[in-house]
Amino acid sequence: MQEVFNYIDGLFSPSVDGGHLENLNPATGEVISTIPRSLQADVEHAASAALRAQPAWNALSLEQRALWLDRIADALEEKHEHIAQSESLDTGKPIALARRVDAARSVDNFRFFAEFAREQTEMTFKMDDAMNYVHRNGLGVVGLITPWNLPLYLLSWKVAPALLMGNTVVAKPSELTPLTANILAETLHELNLPKGVFNLVHGLGPEVGQAILEHPGIKGISFTGGTATGRIVAATAAPMFKKLSLELGGKNATIILDDADLDIAVKGAVRAAFTNSGQVCLCGSRLLVQSSIADAFLPAFIAEVEAMNIGAPSDETSQISSIISREHLHKVESYIELALQEGGDILTGGTRAMTGPVGPDAHGAYLAPTVIGGLSHLSRCATEEIFGPVVTVHIFDTLEQATEMANATEYGLAGSIWTKDVAQGRALAQTIDTGIVWINTWLHRDLRTPFGGVKNSGVGREGGQWSLGFFSETTNICVIDPK
Ligand code: NDP
Repeated sequence: MQEVFNYIDGLFSPSVDGGHLENLNPATGEVISTIPRSLQADVEHAASAALRAQPAWNALSLEQRALWLDRIADALEEKHEHIAQSESLDTGKPIALARRVDAARSVDNFRFFAEFAREQTEMTFKMDDAMNYVHRNGLGVVGLITPWNLPLYLLSWKVAPALLMGNTVVAKPSELTPLTANILAETLHELNLPKGVFNLVHGLGPEVGQAILEHPGIKGISFTGGTATGRIVAATAAPMFKKLSLELGGKNATIILDDADLDIAVKGAVRAAFTNSGQVCLCGSRLLVQSSIADAFLPAFIAEVEAMNIGAPSDETSQISSIISREHLHKVESYIELALQEGGDILTGGTRAMTGPVGPDAHGAYLAPTVIGGLSHLSRCATEEIFGPVVTVHIFDTLEQATEMANATEYGLAGSIWTKDVAQGRALAQTIDTGIVWINTWLHRDLRTPFGGVKNSGVGREGGQWSLGFFSETTNICVIDPK
C-alpha cells in the first residue's frame, strides 16, 4: 500500500501532527494508499515556503518559466501510462478513458500554456504625448483547490498558468483522489523545480481547504468543485479581497432539433451524457428532444446506451466503470428513487446490473447508465446536479420552449445543440444562459477559448488569456520621455 506525503518546501513530509486518512479504490473498496490529514499548521508551512519562493520565481522571465512548463510536460508525458493507471485506480474510471482524457490532457495543459506564453506581446497604448505599457506580475501565492472527477487534468489546468505568470502555489486535491497530484509533485521534485514554488497539502476540504481560503498570505483562489462548496469559498475569501475564480456545478442541456443528423446526434448525446459515468461538470444530463424527431431519436439513443460496455476499470473495453464512491452511489440512487416519486419512468438502467466481460467487484460503486423519461423539466431530478450516469429526457415543440427548458435551472455551465442548420443552432445558442455551447459536438476544447459558467455554475473564466489574466496583476506604466 502506498504512503502519500505532503510536498512542502521541496520535501515530502507527513502532516505536522501525524494524522492520516485512508484512500480507497472505489471499484473494489480496497485501501490503496494513506494520505496526510493536514491541518492549518501544514498550510502555514506551505504558504510560508511559497511566500519565500515567490520573488525569485516571479523575477524569472516569461520565457524561462515557459521552459519550465515544457520540461514538466515532457516529464509527465514519459509517465503517461503511470498517470493513467493511477487515475483509473483512484477514481474507478475505465483505463482507456484515463489514458485518452486524463493523462493526455494533463500533458497538454503544460504544453499549451508554454506555447501560448510565446505568442504574447506586450500590451501598449500610445497617446500623443505618452506611451502606456501594461506590465503583468504574478499575484503572489495562489491556492488551487480541485475535485475528484478529473484530478490531474483539472489541477494541471490551474498549476500551468499559475506558475507561468510568476505565482507560487499551495494546492489541495480532493482527498478521494490524491495519487496523480502526488505524481506531479514527484515529477517537479525530480526536475529540481526551485523549492517552495509548488506545494501540495493533502487532507479534508473543511480542514486543509478552509485553511488555504483563510490564509492571509494567499492572494488568489482558483477553485473547481460543487456549487455549495463554492459558496463557502466565496464567503470566506471575498471579504479578504482575494482574487477568486469559481468553476462550479452544471446541469447541462443537450438539445436535439428535428433536422439533426440522427446517427451523429445519438452518438454525441450518449457521449455527452455518460462520459466518465456522467461525472464531468459539462455532461449533458438533460436531453431535450424536439417532438417531431422524438420517435426516431429516443429508441436509437436507448439502444446506444444499452450497448455501452460496463466493466472493471482495468478492462480495456470498459466504457462505464465504478463511480467515485459508495457514498456517491447512494446519492445517485436516491435521485433515481426521487425520479420515481416525481412520476418518472426508467427507460433503461437504474440498477447496478453489469454487462462487461470482467465482472465488477461486489464492493465497487457500479451503476448502469440510466435514462429517465416522463418528468417535468422543473422537477428536482431535472434541475439539480446529480453528477452520475443519469440523464432525464424532455420533449419540446418550439425553439422558444427549448430555450425556456434549457434555462430552467440555477446552473449555466455548458450545453450542446444538434442540428444541420448551424445558423439556427447559433441563434438558439445565444438564447441560452450558459458559458459554453457546442453545436454538433461536445467537449471539443480549444484551450485558448474562455471556459466557465454563469448563474450558480461559477464566476470568472479560465483558458488562454482568461487564465493569464486571472493569475496576474497588471500595472499600467505611463511614460513621457523628456528627450
Ligand atoms: P466539492 O465541492 O465537494 O470539492 C471540491 C474541492 O473542494 C475538494 O478538494 C474538496 O476537498 C474541497 N473542499 C471541500 N470543502 C471545502 C472547504 N470548506 N473549503 C475549501 N475547500 C473545500 O466537489 P467534488 O469534489 O464533489 O466535485 C464535484 C463537483 O465539482 C461537481 O459539482 C462538479 O460539477 C464540479 N466540477 C466543476 C467543474 C467546472 O469546471 N465547473 C469541473 C469539474 C467538476 P475534499 O474532497 O477533501 O472534501
